[in-house]
Amino acid sequence: MSTPNPVNLLDFDVDGLVAWFAGLGEKPFRARQVMRWMHHEGCDDFDAMTDVAKSLRAKLKDLAVIRPPVPVRDSISADDTRKWLLDVGNANAVETVFIPETSRGTLCVSSQAGCALDCAFCSTGKQGFNRNLSAAEIIGQLWLANKLLGAARADAEEHATDLEAGEKDNGRIISNVVMMGMGEPLANFDNVVTALRLMLDDHAYGLSRRRVTVSTSGIVPAMDRLRDECPVALAVSLHAPNDALRDNLVPLNRKYPLAELLQACKRYLAHAPRDFITFEYCMLDGVNDQPEHARQLVALVRGQGVSCKFNLIPFNPFPASGLLRSPQARVMAFAKILGDAGIVTTVRKTRGDDIDAACGQLAGDVKDRTRVGERIAQQRIVMLTPARPTVDGIKETLKP
Ligand code: SAH
Ligand code: SF4
Repeated sequence: MSTPNPVNLLDFDVDGLVAWFAGLGEKPFRARQVMRWMHHEGCDDFDAMTDVAKSLRAKLKDLAVIRPPVPVRDSISADDTRKWLLDVGNANAVETVFIPETSRGTLCVSSQAGCALDCAFCSTGKQGFNRNLSAAEIIGQLWLANKLLGAARADAEEHATDLEAGEKDNGRIISNVVMMGMGEPLANFDNVVTALRLMLDDHAYGLSRRRVTVSTSGIVPAMDRLRDECPVALAVSLHAPNDALRDNLVPLNRKYPLAELLQACKRYLAHAPRDFITFEYCMLDGVNDQPEHARQLVALVRGQGVSCKFNLIPFNPFPASGLLRSPQARVMAFAKILGDAGIVTTVRKTRGDDIDAACGQLAGDVKDRTRVGERIAQQRIVMLTPARPTVDGIKETLKP
């Protein structure tokens, strides 16, 4: 007979599981053994853990479960990007995206059902906020993707005769994780850090810190905590070169303006696994994509002395955003100004947009508890209005 409220073992990092096992009178090595079954083997059945003592298995069956979120839709893009819609209960769903590339496979993981931060160009923000995901729901996305991709690969290898020899064993399917799905990871700090620890731990996924990236819109105190508690690669969503524009695009800027944010980036770099911060910059037609903005950015990062790279993201439009993607030529001109100033700049390739899996298109299905979605729908155009006088051509870019 199992307990009515079993503990989900996916909620624990290694230290947490060792502590919980200690409460059962079990040794630390037993916890690590179960950890490996769960995360190396993708096992969710205690009976299958054949080298775990039967008495312990019986105890675990009684008290615990291994329960990842449930996939309710699986979409595959023409470019092989794959997106899963995951049911996280109470009519909420979040999305996870796998992006295969020649030399790596990246999983884009969600941290919240919705997001309360309300950035002007983000479809997740427009959904409003429902709740933080648990650690099990966050690491469960990696657990599930590994399992589903592993199964897909085994199936393909069994049935395909036209696989290249090298394709049969190209190592880990997921080599990189980016916390760039739905939600603001640093607004769900504890659960995200538990999941990050599992990503890094050899008893679980054993990824290098350089291959795990947290993307944040800039919650300064949480950036300091991440540096102290679990430094991984950091991406910061900048999107504007001055406070007036950033206040409108990323409302959190009103709380943590650019100078404070860039100082936090500098402090982060003192402990970061990489020696640069990646600045993400979503290119919005006529809003933040003028040569003057690029020049202001150069002055900003030079002035603050932050070692950085820029990743320019072509805006992925979604209904009712009221914004348009910058033309490619303008993106390239912007990249050239940064590049000529000696700042390494890449333009992100849009992947999976035919299945709405590209950056900022992840909307899942969120029951807004803050009614932020409704408010934003009414405020969108008004919010951007103050930026108009500073930006040429903005009138043409805002849909009526
Ligand atoms: N909340 C975090 C992480 C999730 S968003 C953050 O804001 O950083 C991941 C990235 O996608 C961020 O850089 C975000 O600014 C960008 N993004 C959001 N909406 C987008 C859109 N519609 N088109 C392109 N990029 C978008
Ligand atoms: Fe939230 Fe990031 Fe979207 Fe802003 S861009 S609303 S912080 S998910």
